[in-house]
Amino acid sequence: MRAGAVHRPARCRWQLPALVGAAGLAHALPSVGVLGAIAGRPSRLGPIRLRGAAGTEAVALTFDDGPSPEGTPRILHRLEQLGLRATFFVTGTEAARHPALVADIRSAGHGVESHGMEHRHHLLHGPRWVERDLRAALDVLRSLGVRPRYLRPPYGQAAAATLVAAQRHRLGCVLWSCWGREFAEPRAAAVAARIRQRLEPGAIVLLHDSDQHCGPGSVAAVDQALEAVAQELARRRLRSVRLAELLE
Ligand SMILES: [Zn+2]
Repeated sequence: MRAGAVHRPARCRWQLPALVGAAGLAHALPSVGVLGAIAGRPSRLGPIRLRGAAGTEAVALTFDDGPSPEGTPRILHRLEQLGLRATFFVTGTEAARHPALVADIRSAGHGVESHGMEHRHHLLHGPRWVERDLRAALDVLRSLGVRPRYLRPPYGQAAAATLVAAQRHRLGCVLWSCWGREFAEPRAAAVAARIRQRLEPGAIVLLHDSDQHCGPGSVAAVDQALEAVAQELARRRLRSVRLAELLE
């Protein structure tokens, strides 16, 4: 394993609990990001979707933080190879930089949804900033012909301002019920093992197609873990569908 793989720099998404906690006091609602990650079983927390219906035979594989020239083509290739459908929560900033990759995602039959414009902690910004960020991302995506129906806020931080702005723009707020945690341990076996634990009917699986906020080696680990994920889906007789299909 790569030295220092577990210890990420402070910019990494999941290592700011004190900062997030303090910022949360300034908002009407605390962050539910961590709750969303560990809750697993309920299908929603208030207006926030964590998973689809338990009675379904489908799951949604989701990839955050792209599109990225280093990660997205690699993940698209693997998904095609394995016959998997997925949904990409792209940031407006990266979508504007790499519009051809957004087109590639769509032409391969996958979903594109919003991860906001800038990848920042909503709990550290006020309602106006959050509103502007969501609107800017929608402007970019619409200019590329994408009409997102869902928002996954960066770091899973659904602040009160996030929910208000999402509702204003008719975006459903979505977190996840199952994750690879490749940012913490970028090894394919570890990523696959974590997903296997909670790959249940209706699961929403959080993965990443960019190393930008996760650290080096994350996409490689996800890429290599996907074959095991596909095998587990087949073993459980589950199929992967776009998020919008799972939550319909
Ligand atoms: Zn993200």
